[in-house]
Amino acid sequence: MNFDINNLTRENVKSMKPYSSARDEFEDFDTADMIFLDANENPFQNGVNRYPDPQQSSVKAVLAKEKNVNTNQILLGNGSDEVLDLIFRAFCEPKVDNIISLPPTYGMYGVLANINAVENREVLLSEDFQPQVEKILEAVDKNTKIIFLCSPNNPTANSFSDESVVELLENFKGLVVIDEAYIDFSEKESWLAKINKYPNLIITQTLSKAYGLAGIRLGICYGSVAVISVLNKIKPPYNVNELTQLRALERLSDPSKIKAEIASIIEQREQLLKVLVDVKFVEKVYPTEANFILIKVDDANKRYDELIKKGIVIRNRTTQPLCENTLRLTIGTEVENKKLMEALKA
Ligand SMILES: *Cc1c(COP(=O)(O)O)cnc(C)c1O
Repeated sequence: MNFDINNLTRENVKSMKPYSSARDEFEDFDTADMIFLDANENPFQNGVNRYPDPQQSSVKAVLAKEKNVNTNQILLGNGSDEVLDLIFRAFCEPKVDNIISLPPTYGMYGVLANINAVENREVLLSEDFQPQVEKILEAVDKNTKIIFLCSPNNPTANSFSDESVVELLENFKGLVVIDEAYIDFSEKESWLAKINKYPNLIITQTLSKAYGLAGIRLGICYGSVAVISVLNKIKPPYNVNELTQLRALERLSDPSKIKAEIASIIEQREQLLKVLVDVKFVEKVYPTEANFILIKVDDANKRYDELIKKGIVIRNRTTQPLCENTLRLTIGTEVENKKLMEALKA
């Protein structure tokens, strides 16, 4: 495929150079014995009196090694939400371009389209929650810049078939963003393995779910060097703060702990699945590759309220297309899940 990122990038972004902050200009030096009088910071040390590394080199180095990509194929943001917003702002001309999303799915694609005045063309998933590739390609026109695929998908919990993803990657000339927020709970391989094969592939991941760091806000974008350098031009220089970078490094330094937590969540998920099929008002338990389960019940609003009264908050998804009377249950700790199971049986 002849792929040139310049054909997709907004005109104003094409002509931009990245903002060069004080810390950017001198980041290359061996900093230990330098005196920094360049950024109008307070010189008294307290751990965070200096601006953070705008390129987050230490965090990227760890991720690059773990994920087997180059550091210049990574962009970090204040949660995936910022990363997704940067993708809109780099490639979608307001009031001209459009994107395609596949409901029922993560709400932020539509929200960000709205904020950026970009048309969101919605092509429903099939009844078994797979992309309808033909319909998607029919919805594409010359101003379609991005297709958002969430796999495993929120709230349906399944991942999309390899064939449909490949068909979209190979037949759509714009960018295909695969949101892999839940990939660590799936047995499927990440699309990261294909990052060098498809120049139009962008993958987003996050430390908010499996990595247990929703509070620090760290989202990750992987893409071709060309895509990442466009995004780097428009990212706010200090978008990932020092405390976030330190906390991420600390967590990433102990992968066995993360693995153990993921294994425990998956084990709890499998137990909960077994119990759910025997709950009287549960009509369907959907297969899951995530840290949550989608169920269809007799009356979602009623069951939601009943659980609230028992002190358990879940997500009611009944207003989402194809999700009538569905509830989404996040997998908690063993103790929390026991309480959920007791409440459901009652
Ligand atoms: C939770 C979630 C995210 C994570 O967003 P952050 O801003 O990184 O916390 C991204 N995509 C999907 C589909 C999610 O469900």
